[in-house]
Amino acid sequence: MHFNLLTLFPEMFPATLGLSLSGKALERGDWSYNAVNIRDFAQGVHKNVDDTPFGGGAGMVMRADVIEKSLLSVPTTGHKIYMSPRGKPLTQARAKQLITHDTLTILCGRYEGVDQRVLDAHDFEEISIGDYVLSGGEPAALILMDACIRLLPGVMGNTATTDEESFSNGLLEYPHYTRPATWESANGQSLDVPEVLTSGNHKRINDWREEQSLKLTQERRPDLLDTNTQQNTCKPAQD
Ligand code: SAM
Repeated sequence: MHFNLLTLFPEMFPATLGLSLSGKALERGDWSYNAVNIRDFAQGVHKNVDDTPFGGGAGMVMRADVIEKSLLSVPTTGHKIYMSPRGKPLTQARAKQLITHDTLTILCGRYEGVDQRVLDAHDFEEISIGDYVLSGGEPAALILMDACIRLLPGVMGNTATTDEESFSNGLLEYPHYTRPATWESANGQSLDVPEVLTSGNHKRINDWREEQSLKLTQERRPDLLDTNTQQNTCKPAQD
Protein backbone atom coordinates (compact mmCIF):
# COMPACT_ATOMS: atom_id res chain seq x y z
CA MET A 1 0.00 0.00 0.00
CA HIS A 2 1.30 3.46 -0.92
CA PHE A 3 0.51 6.79 0.75
CA ASN A 4 1.07 10.19 -0.87
CA LEU A 5 1.03 12.97 1.71
CA LEU A 6 0.36 16.52 0.57
CA THR A 7 1.74 18.63 3.40
CA LEU A 8 3.58 21.81 4.35
CA PHE A 9 5.68 19.70 6.74
CA PRO A 10 7.04 16.63 4.89
CA GLU A 11 9.57 16.15 7.69
CA MET A 12 6.66 15.11 9.95
CA PHE A 13 6.59 11.71 8.15
CA PRO A 14 7.01 8.82 8.84
CA ALA A 15 7.39 9.86 12.53
CA THR A 16 6.31 7.01 14.82
CA LEU A 17 5.35 4.88 11.81
CA GLY A 18 9.08 4.44 11.13
CA LEU A 19 9.40 2.46 14.40
CA SER A 20 8.20 -0.87 15.77
CA LEU A 21 5.98 -3.13 13.61
CA SER A 22 5.02 -0.41 11.11
CA GLY A 23 8.72 0.56 10.80
CA LYS A 24 9.69 -3.05 10.02
CA ALA A 25 6.81 -3.26 7.53
CA LEU A 26 8.11 -0.05 5.89
CA GLU A 27 11.59 -1.59 5.58
CA ARG A 28 10.09 -4.77 4.09
CA GLY A 29 8.13 -2.70 1.56
CA ASP A 30 4.68 -3.72 2.84
CA TRP A 31 3.87 -0.03 2.64
CA SER A 32 5.59 3.09 1.30
CA TYR A 33 5.05 6.83 1.34
CA ASN A 34 5.92 9.98 -0.56
CA ALA A 35 5.64 13.26 1.34
CA VAL A 36 5.08 16.11 -1.15
CA ASN A 37 5.87 19.63 0.05
CA ILE A 38 2.94 21.80 -1.07
CA ARG A 39 5.14 24.90 -0.79
CA ASP A 40 7.33 23.63 -3.66
CA PHE A 41 4.38 24.45 -5.95
CA ALA A 42 3.82 28.02 -4.76
CA GLN A 43 4.68 30.98 -7.01
CA GLY A 44 6.58 34.20 -6.33
CA VAL A 45 9.42 35.21 -4.09
CA HIS A 46 7.45 34.57 -0.92
CA LYS A 47 6.10 31.18 -2.02
CA ASN A 48 2.73 31.91 -0.44
CA VAL A 49 0.49 28.89 0.01
CA ASP A 50 -2.36 30.71 1.77
CA ASP A 51 -4.48 33.84 1.52
CA THR A 52 -7.20 35.68 3.46
CA PRO A 53 -10.72 34.17 3.36
CA PHE A 54 -13.36 35.62 1.02
CA GLY A 55 -16.17 37.00 3.20
CA GLY A 56 -13.75 37.98 5.93
CA GLY A 57 -12.99 36.29 9.20
CA ALA A 58 -9.96 35.23 11.15
CA GLY A 59 -7.06 33.20 9.84
CA MET A 60 -5.79 32.14 6.45
CA VAL A 61 -6.95 29.58 3.91
CA MET A 62 -4.72 27.29 1.84
CA ARG A 63 -4.98 28.13 -1.88
CA ALA A 64 -6.70 25.75 -4.30
CA ASP A 65 -4.25 26.39 -7.17
CA VAL A 66 -1.15 25.55 -5.10
CA ILE A 67 -2.73 22.42 -3.62
CA GLU A 68 -3.89 21.28 -7.07
CA LYS A 69 -0.37 21.61 -8.51
CA SER A 70 1.00 19.47 -5.68
CA LEU A 71 -1.74 16.89 -6.33
CA LEU A 72 -1.02 16.80 -10.07
CA SER A 73 2.66 16.15 -9.35
CA VAL A 74 1.74 12.75 -7.90
CA PRO A 75 1.95 10.01 -10.57
CA THR A 76 -0.86 7.84 -9.13
CA THR A 77 -3.22 9.43 -6.62
CA GLY A 78 -5.61 6.53 -5.90
CA HIS A 79 -8.35 7.46 -3.42
CA LYS A 80 -8.07 11.07 -2.18
CA ILE A 81 -8.65 12.02 1.44
CA TYR A 82 -8.64 15.41 3.17
CA MET A 83 -8.05 15.14 6.94
CA SER A 84 -10.69 17.44 8.41
CA PRO A 85 -12.65 17.87 11.67
CA ARG A 86 -15.72 18.27 9.43
CA GLY A 87 -15.25 14.80 7.92
CA LYS A 88 -16.95 11.53 8.77
CA PRO A 89 -15.27 10.02 11.85
CA LEU A 90 -12.60 7.40 11.13
CA THR A 91 -13.75 3.95 12.26
CA GLN A 92 -12.21 0.50 12.29
CA ALA A 93 -14.68 -0.50 9.56
CA ARG A 94 -13.58 2.43 7.35
CA ALA A 95 -9.90 1.57 7.94
CA LYS A 96 -10.63 -1.99 6.73
CA GLN A 97 -12.24 -0.59 3.58
CA LEU A 98 -9.39 1.88 2.97
CA ILE A 99 -6.77 -0.88 2.80
CA THR A 100 -8.50 -2.22 -0.31
CA HIS A 101 -6.98 0.79 -2.14
CA ASP A 102 -3.43 0.31 -3.42
CA THR A 103 -2.79 4.06 -3.05
CA LEU A 104 -4.20 6.80 -0.84
CA THR A 105 -3.38 10.48 -1.30
CA ILE A 106 -3.89 12.39 1.93
CA LEU A 107 -4.13 16.18 2.05
CA CYS A 108 -3.04 17.67 5.39
CA GLY A 109 -4.55 21.07 6.07
CA ARG A 110 -3.07 23.95 8.11
CA TYR A 111 -4.36 27.36 9.15
CA GLU A 112 -8.20 27.59 8.86
CA GLY A 113 -8.23 24.80 6.29
CA VAL A 114 -8.23 24.62 2.50
CA ASP A 115 -10.20 26.32 -0.31
CA GLN A 116 -13.33 24.17 -0.75
CA ARG A 117 -13.03 24.22 -4.54
CA VAL A 118 -9.98 21.96 -4.66
CA LEU A 119 -11.84 19.37 -2.57
CA ASP A 120 -14.88 19.55 -4.87
CA ALA A 121 -12.91 19.53 -8.12
CA HIS A 122 -10.85 16.47 -7.18
CA ASP A 123 -13.37 14.44 -5.15
CA PHE A 124 -11.61 14.39 -1.81
CA GLU A 125 -13.29 12.36 0.92
CA GLU A 126 -13.17 14.27 4.23
CA ILE A 127 -12.22 12.12 7.23
CA SER A 128 -12.00 13.24 10.86
CA ILE A 129 -10.08 11.50 13.63
CA GLY A 130 -12.36 12.86 16.35
CA ASP A 131 -14.39 15.75 17.70
CA TYR A 132 -11.55 18.10 18.51
CA VAL A 133 -9.43 20.49 16.47
CA LEU A 134 -5.73 19.91 15.82
CA SER A 135 -3.39 22.56 14.48
CA GLY A 136 -2.68 20.53 11.35
CA GLY A 137 -3.68 17.44 9.39
CA GLU A 138 -0.32 15.66 9.69
CA PRO A 139 -0.93 13.96 13.09
CA ALA A 140 -4.41 13.01 11.85
CA ALA A 141 -2.92 11.48 8.68
CA LEU A 142 -0.40 9.50 10.78
CA ILE A 143 -3.28 8.09 12.83
CA LEU A 144 -5.25 7.09 9.76
CA MET A 145 -2.13 5.51 8.24
CA ASP A 146 -1.39 3.60 11.47
CA ALA A 147 -4.94 2.24 11.59
CA CYS A 148 -4.54 1.02 7.98
CA ILE A 149 -0.95 -0.26 8.09
CA ARG A 150 -1.50 -2.59 11.05
CA LEU A 151 -4.35 -4.24 9.12
CA LEU A 152 -2.14 -5.04 6.09
CA PRO A 153 -1.42 -8.78 5.73
CA GLY A 154 1.71 -9.82 7.62
CA VAL A 155 2.25 -6.55 9.49
CA MET A 156 0.93 -7.74 12.88
CA GLY A 157 2.20 -11.29 12.57
CA ASN A 158 -0.81 -12.86 14.31
CA THR A 159 -4.00 -12.07 12.36
CA ALA A 160 -6.25 -13.43 15.13
CA THR A 161 -5.21 -10.42 17.21
CA THR A 162 -7.03 -7.90 15.00
CA ASP A 163 -10.18 -10.07 14.71
CA GLU A 164 -10.80 -9.91 18.46
CA GLU A 165 -9.90 -6.27 18.96
CA SER A 166 -12.15 -3.43 20.07
CA PHE A 167 -14.66 -2.41 17.34
CA SER A 168 -14.01 -5.48 15.14
CA ASN A 169 -17.19 -7.15 16.41
CA GLY A 170 -18.92 -3.90 17.39
CA LEU A 171 -17.82 -4.12 21.04
CA LEU A 172 -14.91 -2.93 23.17
CA GLU A 173 -12.36 -5.60 24.02
CA TYR A 174 -12.36 -7.50 27.34
CA PRO A 175 -9.59 -6.82 29.94
CA HIS A 176 -6.21 -8.57 29.71
CA TYR A 177 -4.03 -10.11 32.44
CA THR A 178 -0.59 -11.77 32.47
CA ARG A 179 1.86 -13.23 35.02
CA PRO A 180 2.19 -13.13 37.99
CA ALA A 181 -1.24 -14.56 38.93
CA THR A 182 -1.13 -12.53 42.16
CA TRP A 183 0.48 -9.10 41.94
CA GLU A 184 1.38 -6.90 44.90
CA SER A 185 1.14 -3.26 43.86
CA ALA A 186 3.51 -0.63 45.28
CA ASN A 187 0.58 0.94 47.18
CA GLY A 188 -0.07 -2.26 49.16
CA GLN A 189 -2.84 -3.94 47.15
CA SER A 190 -2.78 -7.67 46.45
CA LEU A 191 -4.52 -8.22 43.13
CA ASP A 192 -5.47 -11.63 41.71
CA VAL A 193 -6.21 -12.58 38.12
CA PRO A 194 -9.93 -13.46 37.70
CA GLU A 195 -10.18 -17.16 38.62
CA VAL A 196 -11.87 -18.14 35.36
CA LEU A 197 -8.77 -17.22 33.34
CA THR A 198 -6.63 -19.82 35.13
CA SER A 199 -9.37 -22.52 34.97
CA GLY A 200 -8.26 -23.93 31.61
CA ASN A 201 -11.97 -24.13 30.63
CA HIS A 202 -12.11 -22.44 27.22
CA LYS A 203 -15.91 -22.24 27.11
CA ARG A 204 -16.01 -20.46 30.49
CA ILE A 205 -13.15 -18.18 29.45
CA ASN A 206 -14.89 -17.20 26.19
CA ASP A 207 -18.20 -16.60 27.99
CA TRP A 208 -16.45 -14.42 30.60
CA ARG A 209 -14.67 -12.40 27.92
CA GLU A 210 -17.91 -11.87 26.00
CA GLU A 211 -19.67 -10.72 29.19
CA GLN A 212 -16.81 -8.34 30.03
CA SER A 213 -16.84 -6.91 26.50
CA LEU A 214 -20.56 -6.26 26.68
CA LYS A 215 -20.34 -4.76 30.18
CA LEU A 216 -17.51 -2.39 29.23
CA THR A 217 -19.30 -1.34 26.06
CA GLN A 218 -22.54 -0.65 27.96
CA GLU A 219 -20.65 1.43 30.54
CA ARG A 220 -18.30 3.36 28.25
CA ARG A 221 -19.70 3.33 24.72
CA PRO A 222 -23.44 2.60 24.70
CA ASP A 223 -23.55 4.31 21.29
CA LEU A 224 -21.75 1.28 19.80
CA LEU A 225 -24.57 -0.98 20.94
CA ASP A 226 -27.15 1.29 19.28
CA THR A 227 -25.42 1.53 15.92
CA ASN A 228 -23.92 -1.95 15.66
CA THR A 229 -26.78 -4.08 16.94
CA GLN A 230 -26.68 -6.26 13.83
CA GLN A 231 -22.94 -6.97 14.16
CA ASN A 232 -22.88 -7.85 17.87
CA THR A 233 -22.33 -11.44 18.79
CA CYS A 234 -23.66 -10.62 22.27
CA LYS A 235 -27.22 -9.62 23.03
CA PRO A 236 -27.47 -5.81 22.92
CA ALA A 237 -28.61 -3.82 25.95
CA GLN A 238 -32.32 -3.10 26.31
CA ASP A 239 -33.38 0.36 27.45
N1 SAM B 1 -11.12 25.78 10.75
C1 SAM B 1 -11.20 24.34 10.77
C2 SAM B 1 -12.54 23.90 11.38
O1 SAM B 1 -13.01 24.59 12.29
O2 SAM B 1 -13.08 22.87 10.98
C3 SAM B 1 -10.05 23.75 11.58
C4 SAM B 1 -8.72 23.90 10.91
S1 SAM B 1 -7.42 23.10 11.79
C5 SAM B 1 -6.78 24.41 12.77
C6 SAM B 1 -6.16 22.88 10.58
C7 SAM B 1 -6.13 21.52 9.90
O3 SAM B 1 -5.93 20.51 10.86
C8 SAM B 1 -7.38 21.12 9.16
O4 SAM B 1 -7.41 21.70 7.88
C9 SAM B 1 -7.25 19.62 9.12
O5 SAM B 1 -6.47 19.20 8.02
C10 SAM B 1 -6.52 19.30 10.41
N2 SAM B 1 -7.41 18.80 11.49
C11 SAM B 1 -7.72 19.45 12.63
N3 SAM B 1 -8.51 18.73 13.41
C12 SAM B 1 -8.72 17.55 12.78
C13 SAM B 1 -9.47 16.39 13.08
N4 SAM B 1 -10.18 16.29 14.18
N5 SAM B 1 -9.45 15.37 12.19
C14 SAM B 1 -8.75 15.47 11.04
N6 SAM B 1 -8.01 16.55 10.70
C15 SAM B 1 -8.00 17.59 11.55
